[in-house]
Amino acid sequence: MIAAVDIGGTKIAIGMVDGGGRVLSRRQQPTDPEAGYAHALERTVNMLHEVSAEAREEITGIGIGSTGPVYAFTGEFGDVNFFPKWRGENLVRDLERTFQVSAAMENDGDAAALGEAGWGAGKGYKRLIYATIGTGIGVGIILNGEVYRGVDDFHPEIGHHLIDPSGPLCDCGFRGCWESLAAGPAMVKWIERNAPLDYEHRVGLTAKKICELAQHGDDWARKAVEHESHHLGLGLANLVTMFVPEVIILGGSVMKSAPLFMDEIRKVIAASCRLVPFEKTQLALASLGEDTNLIGAARVWYYRCGPEAHSAR
Ligand SMILES: [Zn+2]
Repeated sequence: MIAAVDIGGTKIAIGMVDGGGRVLSRRQQPTDPEAGYAHALERTVNMLHEVSAEAREEITGIGIGSTGPVYAFTGEFGDVNFFPKWRGENLVRDLERTFQVSAAMENDGDAAALGEAGWGAGKGYKRLIYATIGTGIGVGIILNGEVYRGVDDFHPEIGHHLIDPSGPLCDCGFRGCWESLAAGPAMVKWIERNAPLDYEHRVGLTAKKICELAQHGDDWARKAVEHESHHLGLGLANLVTMFVPEVIILGGSVMKSAPLFMDEIRKVIAASCRLVPFEKTQLALASLGEDTNLIGAARVWYYRCGPEAHSAR
Protein backbone atom coordinates (compact mmCIF):
# COMPACT_ATOMS: atom_id res chain seq x y z
CA MET A 1 0.00 0.00 0.00
CA ILE A 2 1.41 3.33 -1.07
CA ALA A 3 1.74 6.28 1.28
CA ALA A 4 1.45 9.78 -0.18
CA VAL A 5 3.17 12.95 1.01
CA ASP A 6 1.97 16.31 -0.31
CA ILE A 7 4.21 19.22 0.71
CA GLY A 8 2.59 22.59 0.13
CA GLY A 9 3.52 26.13 1.12
CA THR A 10 1.00 26.10 3.96
CA LYS A 11 0.35 22.45 4.79
CA ILE A 12 1.82 18.96 4.70
CA ALA A 13 -0.81 16.31 3.91
CA ILE A 14 -0.16 12.60 4.35
CA GLY A 15 -2.35 9.67 3.33
CA MET A 16 -2.56 5.99 2.57
CA VAL A 17 -3.85 5.55 -0.98
CA ASP A 18 -5.07 2.26 -2.39
CA GLY A 19 -4.43 0.88 -5.88
CA GLY A 20 -7.55 2.59 -7.23
CA GLY A 21 -6.55 6.06 -6.03
CA ARG A 22 -8.78 6.13 -2.96
CA VAL A 23 -7.52 7.80 0.22
CA LEU A 24 -7.91 5.33 3.11
CA SER A 25 -6.60 7.55 5.88
CA ARG A 26 -5.16 11.03 6.06
CA ARG A 27 -3.47 13.56 8.32
CA GLN A 28 -2.32 17.09 7.81
CA GLN A 29 -0.35 19.76 9.64
CA PRO A 30 0.85 23.26 8.86
CA THR A 31 4.15 23.15 6.93
CA ASP A 32 5.70 25.54 9.47
CA PRO A 33 8.94 25.82 7.45
CA GLU A 34 10.54 28.19 9.97
CA ALA A 35 10.78 25.35 12.52
CA GLY A 36 13.31 23.74 10.20
CA TYR A 37 13.53 20.74 7.89
CA ALA A 38 14.39 18.22 10.63
CA HIS A 39 11.21 19.12 12.50
CA ALA A 40 9.10 18.82 9.32
CA LEU A 41 10.71 15.44 8.57
CA GLU A 42 9.97 14.17 12.09
CA ARG A 43 6.33 15.24 11.83
CA THR A 44 6.04 13.69 8.37
CA VAL A 45 7.43 10.37 9.64
CA ASN A 46 5.03 10.43 12.61
CA MET A 47 2.03 11.13 10.38
CA LEU A 48 3.11 8.32 8.03
CA HIS A 49 3.12 5.88 10.96
CA GLU A 50 -0.33 7.15 12.00
CA VAL A 51 -1.99 6.81 8.60
CA SER A 52 -0.46 3.37 8.16
CA ALA A 53 -1.81 2.24 11.55
CA GLU A 54 -5.23 3.72 10.89
CA ALA A 55 -5.57 2.03 7.50
CA ARG A 56 -4.08 -1.18 8.95
CA GLU A 57 -1.79 -1.39 5.97
CA GLU A 58 1.98 -1.53 5.78
CA ILE A 59 3.71 1.13 3.74
CA THR A 60 5.27 -0.55 0.70
CA GLY A 61 6.28 2.61 -1.16
CA ILE A 62 6.13 6.39 -0.74
CA GLY A 63 5.16 8.95 -3.38
CA ILE A 64 5.83 12.64 -2.81
CA GLY A 65 4.52 15.77 -4.50
CA SER A 66 6.01 19.09 -3.42
CA THR A 67 5.72 22.71 -4.28
CA GLY A 68 8.82 23.48 -6.36
CA PRO A 69 11.43 23.77 -7.49
CA VAL A 70 12.44 20.23 -6.56
CA TYR A 71 14.88 17.86 -8.23
CA ALA A 72 12.71 14.89 -9.16
CA PHE A 73 15.52 12.40 -9.71
CA THR A 74 17.79 13.27 -6.78
CA GLY A 75 14.93 13.96 -4.35
CA GLU A 76 16.34 17.30 -3.23
CA PHE A 77 14.50 20.52 -2.58
CA GLY A 78 15.63 23.46 -4.71
CA ASP A 79 15.26 27.12 -3.82
CA VAL A 80 11.58 26.92 -2.81
CA ASN A 81 9.97 30.29 -2.06
CA PHE A 82 8.07 28.97 0.95
CA PHE A 83 11.00 27.18 2.60
CA PRO A 84 14.33 28.53 1.31
CA LYS A 85 16.20 27.01 4.26
CA TRP A 86 15.28 23.48 3.14
CA ARG A 87 17.37 23.83 -0.01
CA GLY A 88 19.53 20.74 -0.59
CA GLU A 89 17.61 18.63 1.95
CA ASN A 90 16.63 15.24 0.56
CA LEU A 91 13.20 13.97 1.58
CA VAL A 92 13.32 10.94 -0.74
CA ARG A 93 16.56 9.65 0.77
CA ASP A 94 15.41 10.37 4.34
CA LEU A 95 12.06 8.57 3.96
CA GLU A 96 13.64 5.61 2.11
CA ARG A 97 16.11 5.24 4.97
CA THR A 98 13.43 5.47 7.66
CA PHE A 99 10.86 3.15 6.10
CA GLN A 100 13.16 0.89 4.03
CA VAL A 101 10.92 1.22 0.95
CA SER A 102 11.33 2.97 -2.41
CA ALA A 103 10.23 6.61 -2.64
CA ALA A 104 9.98 9.14 -5.47
CA MET A 105 9.21 12.85 -5.68
CA GLU A 106 7.78 15.17 -8.34
CA ASN A 107 6.75 18.80 -8.47
CA ASP A 108 3.15 18.94 -7.17
CA GLY A 109 1.80 20.11 -10.56
CA ASP A 110 3.31 17.04 -12.21
CA ALA A 111 2.10 14.82 -9.34
CA ALA A 112 -1.48 16.10 -9.75
CA ALA A 113 -1.25 15.61 -13.53
CA LEU A 114 -0.12 12.02 -12.96
CA GLY A 115 -2.98 11.46 -10.49
CA GLU A 116 -5.63 12.73 -12.89
CA ALA A 117 -4.00 10.79 -15.75
CA GLY A 118 -3.94 7.54 -13.78
CA TRP A 119 -7.11 7.66 -11.74
CA GLY A 120 -9.08 10.78 -12.71
CA ALA A 121 -10.38 12.89 -15.58
CA GLY A 122 -7.31 12.20 -17.71
CA LYS A 123 -7.58 8.41 -17.64
CA GLY A 124 -6.95 6.94 -21.07
CA TYR A 125 -5.36 10.07 -22.53
CA LYS A 126 -1.74 10.21 -23.66
CA ARG A 127 -1.42 13.98 -24.18
CA LEU A 128 -2.88 15.96 -21.34
CA ILE A 129 -2.26 19.12 -19.41
CA TYR A 130 -3.32 19.66 -15.82
CA ALA A 131 -3.68 23.24 -14.60
CA THR A 132 -4.50 24.15 -11.03
CA ILE A 133 -5.92 27.63 -10.56
CA GLY A 134 -5.77 28.71 -6.93
CA THR A 135 -3.54 31.14 -5.06
CA GLY A 136 -1.12 30.49 -7.93
CA ILE A 137 -1.26 28.63 -11.23
CA GLY A 138 0.54 25.29 -11.42
CA VAL A 139 0.71 23.20 -14.57
CA GLY A 140 1.84 19.66 -15.31
CA ILE A 141 2.25 18.40 -18.86
CA ILE A 142 2.06 14.76 -19.87
CA LEU A 143 3.08 14.03 -23.44
CA ASN A 144 2.85 10.51 -24.84
CA GLY A 145 2.29 9.21 -21.33
CA GLU A 146 5.43 10.82 -19.88
CA VAL A 147 5.85 13.87 -17.67
CA TYR A 148 7.40 16.58 -19.84
CA ARG A 149 10.68 17.81 -18.34
CA GLY A 150 13.15 20.44 -19.45
CA VAL A 151 16.92 20.59 -19.21
CA ASP A 152 18.29 18.91 -16.05
CA ASP A 153 14.78 17.41 -15.77
CA PHE A 154 13.52 20.80 -14.66
CA HIS A 155 9.77 21.37 -14.32
CA PRO A 156 8.74 24.17 -16.69
CA GLU A 157 6.78 27.05 -15.13
CA ILE A 158 3.84 27.28 -17.52
CA GLY A 159 1.84 29.25 -14.93
CA HIS A 160 4.27 32.11 -15.48
CA HIS A 161 4.12 32.41 -19.26
CA LEU A 162 3.58 35.93 -20.52
CA ILE A 163 0.04 37.12 -21.27
CA ASP A 164 0.20 40.94 -21.15
CA PRO A 165 3.49 42.87 -20.82
CA SER A 166 1.59 45.86 -19.41
CA GLY A 167 0.31 43.69 -16.53
CA PRO A 168 1.43 43.53 -12.88
CA LEU A 169 5.01 42.61 -11.90
CA CYS A 170 5.48 39.05 -10.60
CA ASP A 171 8.30 37.35 -8.67
CA CYS A 172 9.08 35.37 -11.83
CA GLY A 173 10.44 38.54 -13.46
CA PHE A 174 7.67 39.08 -16.00
CA ARG A 175 5.09 41.77 -15.96
CA GLY A 176 1.71 40.26 -16.75
CA CYS A 177 2.44 36.53 -16.55
CA TRP A 178 -0.56 34.19 -16.49
CA GLU A 179 -0.47 33.71 -12.69
CA SER A 180 -0.30 37.46 -12.03
CA LEU A 181 -3.44 37.98 -14.16
CA ALA A 182 -5.51 34.86 -13.61
CA ALA A 183 -4.76 33.20 -10.25
CA GLY A 184 -7.33 33.77 -7.47
CA PRO A 185 -5.57 36.80 -5.90
CA ALA A 186 -5.61 38.55 -9.32
CA MET A 187 -9.39 38.89 -9.02
CA VAL A 188 -9.06 40.52 -5.61
CA LYS A 189 -6.35 42.90 -6.86
CA TRP A 190 -8.42 43.78 -9.91
CA ILE A 191 -11.33 44.89 -7.70
CA GLU A 192 -8.98 46.79 -5.37
CA ARG A 193 -7.61 48.70 -8.36
CA ASN A 194 -10.87 49.29 -10.22
CA ALA A 195 -13.87 49.39 -7.89
CA PRO A 196 -14.77 52.72 -6.24
CA LEU A 197 -13.39 53.31 -2.74
CA ASP A 198 -16.88 53.03 -1.27
CA TYR A 199 -17.51 49.57 -2.82
CA GLU A 200 -19.23 47.82 0.06
CA HIS A 201 -17.38 44.48 -0.18
CA ARG A 202 -13.88 45.95 -0.47
CA VAL A 203 -12.67 44.81 2.96
CA GLY A 204 -11.70 41.18 3.47
CA LEU A 205 -12.30 40.19 -0.16
CA THR A 206 -11.13 36.77 -1.36
CA ALA A 207 -11.44 35.01 -4.70
CA LYS A 208 -14.05 32.72 -3.13
CA LYS A 209 -16.10 35.67 -1.87
CA ILE A 210 -15.94 37.34 -5.30
CA CYS A 211 -17.30 34.17 -6.93
CA GLU A 212 -20.16 34.06 -4.42
CA LEU A 213 -20.95 37.74 -4.98
CA ALA A 214 -20.87 37.26 -8.76
CA GLN A 215 -23.35 34.40 -8.45
CA HIS A 216 -25.66 36.80 -6.61
CA GLY A 217 -25.35 39.38 -9.35
CA ASP A 218 -22.95 41.85 -7.73
CA ASP A 219 -21.76 44.14 -10.53
CA TRP A 220 -18.11 44.58 -9.57
CA ALA A 221 -17.72 40.90 -8.73
CA ARG A 222 -19.14 40.03 -12.14
CA LYS A 223 -16.69 42.37 -13.83
CA ALA A 224 -13.82 40.80 -11.88
CA VAL A 225 -15.02 37.34 -12.96
CA GLU A 226 -15.19 38.54 -16.56
CA HIS A 227 -11.61 39.84 -16.36
CA GLU A 228 -10.53 36.56 -14.72
CA SER A 229 -12.28 34.39 -17.34
CA HIS A 230 -10.75 36.33 -20.19
CA HIS A 231 -7.22 35.95 -18.84
CA LEU A 232 -7.72 32.30 -17.91
CA GLY A 233 -8.92 31.84 -21.48
CA LEU A 234 -5.85 33.54 -22.96
CA GLY A 235 -3.48 31.25 -21.05
CA LEU A 236 -5.47 28.15 -21.95
CA ALA A 237 -5.68 29.26 -25.58
CA ASN A 238 -1.87 29.49 -25.60
CA LEU A 239 -1.67 25.92 -24.26
CA VAL A 240 -4.10 24.69 -26.92
CA THR A 241 -2.15 26.42 -29.70
CA MET A 242 1.24 25.21 -28.46
CA PHE A 243 0.40 21.62 -27.47
CA VAL A 244 -3.02 20.72 -28.94
CA PRO A 245 -3.51 18.24 -26.08
CA GLU A 246 -6.38 15.76 -26.02
CA VAL A 247 -7.58 17.26 -22.77
CA ILE A 248 -6.81 20.12 -20.40
CA ILE A 249 -7.88 19.30 -16.85
CA LEU A 250 -8.70 22.24 -14.60
CA GLY A 251 -8.44 22.03 -10.83
CA GLY A 252 -7.74 24.25 -7.83
CA SER A 253 -9.90 26.41 -5.57
CA VAL A 254 -10.94 28.93 -8.27
CA MET A 255 -12.26 26.08 -10.41
CA LYS A 256 -14.78 25.18 -7.71
CA SER A 257 -16.73 28.01 -9.35
CA ALA A 258 -15.96 26.78 -12.87
CA PRO A 259 -19.43 27.51 -14.36
CA LEU A 260 -18.75 31.23 -13.85
CA PHE A 261 -15.71 31.07 -16.12
CA MET A 262 -16.20 28.36 -18.74
CA ASP A 263 -18.27 30.21 -21.37
CA GLU A 264 -15.78 33.04 -21.73
CA ILE A 265 -12.83 30.61 -21.65
CA ARG A 266 -14.36 28.66 -24.57
CA LYS A 267 -15.03 31.91 -26.46
CA VAL A 268 -11.42 33.05 -26.11
CA ILE A 269 -10.11 29.66 -27.24
CA ALA A 270 -12.43 29.60 -30.26
CA ALA A 271 -11.36 33.11 -31.24
CA SER A 272 -7.62 32.57 -30.76
CA CYS A 273 -6.74 29.03 -31.83
CA ARG A 274 -7.82 28.94 -35.43
CA LEU A 275 -4.65 27.28 -36.73
CA VAL A 276 -5.23 24.11 -34.69
CA PRO A 277 -8.26 21.81 -34.23
CA PHE A 278 -9.04 23.48 -30.89
CA GLU A 279 -12.49 21.90 -30.72
CA LYS A 280 -10.80 18.53 -30.28
CA THR A 281 -9.08 19.62 -27.07
CA GLN A 282 -11.52 18.85 -24.28
CA LEU A 283 -11.71 21.01 -21.20
CA ALA A 284 -12.46 18.84 -18.16
CA LEU A 285 -12.66 19.52 -14.46
CA ALA A 286 -10.35 17.65 -12.10
CA SER A 287 -12.21 14.64 -10.74
CA LEU A 288 -10.13 13.67 -7.70
CA GLY A 289 -11.48 16.55 -5.62
CA GLU A 290 -9.81 18.16 -2.61
CA ASP A 291 -7.20 15.40 -2.48
CA THR A 292 -5.94 15.71 -6.07
CA ASN A 293 -2.43 16.60 -4.91
CA LEU A 294 -2.32 13.86 -2.28
CA ILE A 295 -3.64 11.19 -4.64
CA GLY A 296 -1.26 12.50 -7.30
CA ALA A 297 1.64 12.08 -4.87
CA ALA A 298 0.74 8.39 -4.51
CA ARG A 299 0.60 8.10 -8.30
CA VAL A 300 4.17 9.42 -8.44
CA TRP A 301 5.30 6.17 -6.82
CA TYR A 302 3.49 4.05 -9.43
CA TYR A 303 4.88 6.19 -12.23
CA ARG A 304 8.47 6.08 -11.04
CA CYS A 305 8.83 2.85 -9.01
CA GLY A 306 5.77 0.70 -9.76
CA PRO A 307 5.66 -2.51 -11.81
CA GLU A 308 4.96 -0.58 -15.00
CA ALA A 309 7.37 2.28 -14.29
CA HIS A 310 8.58 3.62 -17.60
CA SER A 311 10.30 6.75 -16.58
CA ALA A 312 13.15 5.44 -14.44
CA ARG A 313 16.46 6.65 -15.73
ZN1 LIG B 1 4.94 35.17 -12.82
